[in-house]
Amino acid sequence: MDRQTTRISPADIDRQREFCEQIHERSAALPTPPLAFVDTYGCQQNEADSERIRGYLASMGYGFTESEEAADAIVINTCAIREHAEDRVLGNVGALVHAKRRHPGQIICLCGCMAQEPQVAEKIRQSYRHVDLVFGPHALWKFPELFCRVLTRRGRVFDIADEPGSIAEGIPVVRQSGIKGWVSIMYGCNNFCSYCIVPYVRGRERSRKPEDVLAEVKALADEGYRDITLLGQNVNSYGKDLGLDIDFADLLERIDAIPGDFLIRFMTSHPKDASQKLFETMARCKKVAPAFHLPFQAGSDRILKAMNRVYDRAGYLDKVRRLREQVPDVVITSDVIVGFPGETTPEFEETLSLIEEVRFDALFTFIYSPREGTPAASMPDPMSRAEKQANFQRLVDVQNVISAEKHAAYVGKTLRCLIDGVSEDAGSALTARTPGNRLVRVADGDASLVGQFRDVEITAANTWSLFGKLAGQG
Ligand code: SF4
Repeated sequence: MDRQTTRISPADIDRQREFCEQIHERSAALPTPPLAFVDTYGCQQNEADSERIRGYLASMGYGFTESEEAADAIVINTCAIREHAEDRVLGNVGALVHAKRRHPGQIICLCGCMAQEPQVAEKIRQSYRHVDLVFGPHALWKFPELFCRVLTRRGRVFDIADEPGSIAEGIPVVRQSGIKGWVSIMYGCNNFCSYCIVPYVRGRERSRKPEDVLAEVKALADEGYRDITLLGQNVNSYGKDLGLDIDFADLLERIDAIPGDFLIRFMTSHPKDASQKLFETMARCKKVAPAFHLPFQAGSDRILKAMNRVYDRAGYLDKVRRLREQVPDVVITSDVIVGFPGETTPEFEETLSLIEEVRFDALFTFIYSPREGTPAASMPDPMSRAEKQANFQRLVDVQNVISAEKHAAYVGKTLRCLIDGVSEDAGSALTARTPGNRLVRVADGDASLVGQFRDVEITAANTWSLFGKLAGQG
């Protein structure tokens, strides 16, 4: 058990509030309130982090805009998972030099996983001199202090110290949705999959105390949130570092007991830690959605070993079988990487056959992207990009047929769905989500229904979504 997790003290968070107040006074003295633009890349954890950054900015007296030109402060919360995404971020950050020329007082901040990569931070330091503040995920809790330093001294600030990571409670939050809430239950990862940069930039696994998680979920339920997702790089190993007699299944059970009409989701899971106890708990807990995102990444045992995934194909298939035994209507989604270094076409075909065997409801598919500093980045990689692309397309074609068939099986059913928005598509009025998180385009109804659970009759389907109408509406 790791007892080294640093918990940021309430006094340290109070100090950040004082910085917020100082900045708020400056903001209040301006003729109009300053505006901030927070641009988020990557995973849901980054979205949750951005909600905290917005919380801090609101405490500093900032309003929000979606326009780079109008913004007095721009915060770019980055993702380091794929090279292509990094290049896109750097391109966008480079282009901000023009906005800043027109608005010299503008403060540009870069944070998130890319900021924690030493080579990226160095590139920003040398070649992107219009960026004022760079901080990694470990320093998010002290954003007001760092921002204040830039604001008052007009010098550049870099806080990218490499550390195992900490936990901070009590950071203000401005949530993007009044229906769907994200609750981080743990941070970091211990797994070191050979292709993945996350453990290097987000530190080791550390769990929030159960009472803090429960209090946040209860507050969301009291505020009327209907769909609450528990977040972590590997939620299935929740609690291992706490030294308390609690694991992820126990936490789910406790959250399920919180009064209110809401669904509980969670992501992401690692197959090695997805336990029979968890499957049985899901089956028992009424509020836990029948949805499981269980990344398998590859179908070949040799590739899984090279990826350091610590399970094999048979073990993965066995988990899926046991999950379906407990939760028969479960929607299973997964991540898969095509073209891991050294993967041959016959090995890729083992991935295809696994997909056909499991019949996932949906897949998130990626072509391998080398990440500097990870073991896989220095493995021999003889397959050409064109071959990888061709294999990728074969995989997408196979999955599209399965997704369409899975969706077709919903037609004629009536499901209790959460109405989560007004549709922007001609031909449907609302969007909704099934308990398994499948998108439904609902033909009738109006905005007053958003945030409500309604029975929806599914009338048609395609590969990507379901179509329906409010049940009992003729
Ligand atoms: S489990 Fe593996 S893929 Fe997921 S964050 Fe950890 S190292 Fe990365």
